[in-house]
Amino acid sequence: MNPPVNLSTKPIGLQNVGATCYMNAVLQCLFHVKNLTNELFQYQYFPFMKFALSYMDVITQLSNNSIKVAVPLCFKNVISVNPLFRGIQANDSKDLILYFFENIENELTLKNYICQNPKYMNRIKSIKNVENQQLMNIINVFENSHKSVISDLFYGFKSNSIECLTCHQKLLNYQIFNIIIFPIEIIYNSFHDKTPYKSQTEIGRRNYYTTSNNSYGNFYNGYNNFGNDKYKTNIGYSSGFGQKKVTIYECFDNEISDTDFNGDNQVFCNRCKKMTDSLGKNKIYSSPHVLVLILDRGKGNKFDCDVEFYETIDIKKYVESQNCPVKYNLIGVITHLGESSMSGHFIADCKHFDGKWYTFNDSIVSGPYSSYQKHGTPYILFYQNSEL
Ligand SMILES: [Zn+2]
Repeated sequence: MNPPVNLSTKPIGLQNVGATCYMNAVLQCLFHVKNLTNELFQYQYFPFMKFALSYMDVITQLSNNSIKVAVPLCFKNVISVNPLFRGIQANDSKDLILYFFENIENELTLKNYICQNPKYMNRIKSIKNVENQQLMNIINVFENSHKSVISDLFYGFKSNSIECLTCHQKLLNYQIFNIIIFPIEIIYNSFHDKTPYKSQTEIGRRNYYTTSNNSYGNFYNGYNNFGNDKYKTNIGYSSGFGQKKVTIYECFDNEISDTDFNGDNQVFCNRCKKMTDSLGKNKIYSSPHVLVLILDRGKGNKFDCDVEFYETIDIKKYVESQNCPVKYNLIGVITHLGESSMSGHFIADCKHFDGKWYTFNDSIVSGPYSSYQKHGTPYILFYQNSEL
């Protein structure tokens, strides 16, 4: 086993190796997740683990005090097997994060890596008062097939249910998540636009109207598909940032909002055998140690809306389980510079291991700063459990 990674290293930039700013920003943020870096650094690798080895090369360079800039060429070559990351077209940091999770996890679990972190085991086992067998089945399958430092740090559980208000049949679905996508335009419209809404509980219970047909299938798939064009409304595009604003807590409000399916939006109930008024509930069951939040402003011209977020957040009221992280510290921000999501430039701001903030613009590192310096449009936020 390798010794722990050298966390007293000074911050080092990453050379742009051909339109790789989106990749460099992701690599800086992942490197600054201390537990991930430490675990992967000490891991025993095998030659078939090409993806993990190429990432290990990045970690090794970024923790080497004797070099001025790291060159992520090996990593770039490995991800280039995927057409998404080939060539010099504008790429998306979000896609790379998902690709990273999938590939690292596949390679680690292929070797039947058993996660030794007792915190993770306790967290899973402490989920009590399960309403039904479904959640336990999912957790069992998950435990047996996905055990790795990735699941340990980045995976949480969501639930969504839909209840027929005539016969009260309730259908429930649980999902594992490793990122949360906040559709900023929909969130802005449901909180600040003229869209009718009523607040019935502390967390807000709203009607929101989209152009989609509200069927059960759409509802189920709704978590990560709100950025789709079919959900887009025709709201005008304001000229300057700061005119529209949502807060990060409004984003979480939206994530767990109830949805009334009535009027033209009734749902087919297979017990009543007809369209009925129904109530949909989205919930976060348990939250991960590292929250990756995507502030999705849509494809093409970005939805012009500021998102207010904080260096520490507490999401207790949004999470059902009593035994998972709820207090988080901001440790990384990926910012997209440019008007359109199809072009522009990505930079990262990270809280380094010395407790100071630095801005990573490819090979250029600026700082230290005592707090996060906001610039441009924050796109991806990395929050870490404050007790880690
Ligand atoms: Zn029914």
